[in-house]
Amino acid sequence: MLDNKIIEWRHYLHTIPEIGFEETMTSDFIANKLEEFGIEVCRNIGKTGMVGILKRGTSDKSIALRADFDAIAVTEKNGFDYDSKHRGMMHGCGHDGHSAMLLGAAYQLSQQANFDGTVYFVFQPAEEQGTGAKAMIDDGLFTRWKIDSIYAMHNMPGIEIGSFLISPSSIMASENHFKIEVLASGGHAAMPHLGSDPVLAACNIVSTLQSIITRNLDAIHEPAVLSVTDINTNGGANVIPTVVTLTGDTRCFSDDTQAYIKTAMERVVAGVTSAAGLGYNYEFSNCVLSTVNSSDKSDIAVRVAKKVVGENKVNDKCKPYCTSEDFSFMQREVPSCYILVGNGSKGEKGGVALHLPNYDFNDQLLMIGVNFWVELVRDQLAI
Ligand SMILES: [Zn+2]
Ligand SMILES: [Zn+2]
Repeated sequence: MLDNKIIEWRHYLHTIPEIGFEETMTSDFIANKLEEFGIEVCRNIGKTGMVGILKRGTSDKSIALRADFDAIAVTEKNGFDYDSKHRGMMHGCGHDGHSAMLLGAAYQLSQQANFDGTVYFVFQPAEEQGTGAKAMIDDGLFTRWKIDSIYAMHNMPGIEIGSFLISPSSIMASENHFKIEVLASGGHAAMPHLGSDPVLAACNIVSTLQSIITRNLDAIHEPAVLSVTDINTNGGANVIPTVVTLTGDTRCFSDDTQAYIKTAMERVVAGVTSAAGLGYNYEFSNCVLSTVNSSDKSDIAVRVAKKVVGENKVNDKCKPYCTSEDFSFMQREVPSCYILVGNGSKGEKGGVALHLPNYDFNDQLLMIGVNFWVELVRDQLAI
């Protein structure tokens, strides 16, 4: 039975979690399976990434299905017989399940002739560090192959098993990191008037940065989060420092808002330091873009999901999450849809949150995922 085989694959992948770009055992396993199914495999697309290619008929239509396969640096505390055998690493985000589902779909489609066109099975490394999708793109994912559209699926604990959450537009935020250095001459804590103090200015910057979110952005249409997560100085109890370093993270849902926040942050930093007669350095880097679905592809995903799990298990107006996904880089290349699917309600099997040491992908989701992928291909590459 396919169900049992897929569970076996998932459990095996669960025992060998590997961190981004080091997924050699994982990618060997996936590539061997695809070859066993008679699917052409092109490896080393984004270092450990690969593309499986399955063509039927004569149509030049195509569709790509993407699964991520990297793990996270967490020590597993589940106690299953298939617990991680790699110390300090764990499939704590369910990417073992995503890969097993896509392998299951590859197997099923390899046994069928009832579609016309090409299916690309995209197995992506290093999603957790946000660099795997880009590495695959840089290695020609969208130039070597003519990919019409791409879809990805991620499990979501706390949501009823097999319930689909699909957004017609934004589904996840961009992730941006910043580093601000406030530069002063420092001095003696007892005689601050003889030097200059970066601490007071840095504290003002921390509070004033929040005004960008609450005073400058449209609360409904441009939601954003800004968190200063680390404050570091080179001072001591009686020594006023010469440098205060503020680091942090900001998230939002469009490229325009992201560009605005980047500029507005520098305005605040320049303004506050100038008022205090101090200098500054400012760095803002985008790690991951916002994940925004194409509305026509989300309509397709909704239609297929309803067919697979029924009308009332599909939320077609899913509100966005503030987490981030590097599938967003693939979304800038071709029309796409990123789909969330329930891993189990809170307190039930599969309900433990992502990235916790006792998280586990719910095996009941495997065949639902397989059926969704197969139906999507049949729908898009109909004869
Ligand atoms: Zn994750
Ligand atoms: Zn994940």
